[in-house]
Amino acid sequence: MDLILLGAPGAGKGTQGAILAERLGIPKIATGDILRDAVRRDTELGRRAKAFMDAGELVPDEIILGLIREVLASPEAADGAILDGFPRTTAQAEAVGELLNRLGRRIDAVIVIEVPGDTIVRRMSGRRTCSNCGRVYNVYTEPPETEGVCDVCGGELMQRSDDQEETVRHRLQVYQSTTQPLVRFYETGGVPIRRIPGDRPIAEVQESILRELDH
Ligand code: AMP
Repeated sequence: MDLILLGAPGAGKGTQGAILAERLGIPKIATGDILRDAVRRDTELGRRAKAFMDAGELVPDEIILGLIREVLASPEAADGAILDGFPRTTAQAEAVGELLNRLGRRIDAVIVIEVPGDTIVRRMSGRRTCSNCGRVYNVYTEPPETEGVCDVCGGELMQRSDDQEETVRHRLQVYQSTTQPLVRFYETGGVPIRRIPGDRPIAEVQESILRELDH
C-alpha cells in the first residue's frame, strides 16, 4: 500500500504517520526528516537545502526530485510506504506517480489532515523533538515527564529552527499556495481522498484514519 499524508506543517503528519506505519507494517518516509539529517551531517544535500529550510521555503524541485527517486527505489519502500511531507508540488506529484507506475504501483489513498491555521501556530511553537530518537512532544499538550528530556530514550529535546512563529506563518502560506492544490490534483486523477479533522487528541485522529482506510 502506498499512502500520501497531506496537511499543513504541524497538522500531525509525522505523529500520525509513525503510528500508522507501525499499525500497517509499512515504513513512513519523510523528506523533512531526511533533509534535517543531511543538514545535521553537513552533507552536500544538507548544504544545498539548509537556507531554504531555515527560511520556511520549499527546497527546489531540482534537489528534491533526486531525493524522491532515491527513497522510492530503496529496498525499505519495496512493499509500499507512507509518504510524509512529499509530494509538495505538482512536479513532485508527477514524479512520484511515474516512479510508482514503473514499479507497478499507484497511490492508494491521500490522507489530508485538516487543522485550523491558528491552532497550527500554537502547536508548532510548542513542538519539541528528541535529538536522538526523533519522538515529538508538545510543551502545551503533550509534555515529556522531565522538561527537555525524552521519555523514551533520555535524549535532549530540541526546537526546530523553522518552528519560530514568523517562519511557521510563512510555511503555512507556502502550504496553502503550493501543496494544498495537490488535493485537487489527486481528486481529478481518481485517487481516494480521506479528509481527517486533525484538531483532536492523537488517538482519535488515528482511529479516524484507520476507519477511513477500512482497517
Ligand atoms: P517538514 O518536516 O515536512 O515540515 O519539512 C521541513 C522543511 O524541509 C520544509 O519547510 C522544506 O523547507 C523542506 N522540505 C521537506 N520536504 C520537502 C519537499 N518534498 N519539497 C520541498 N521542500 C521540502
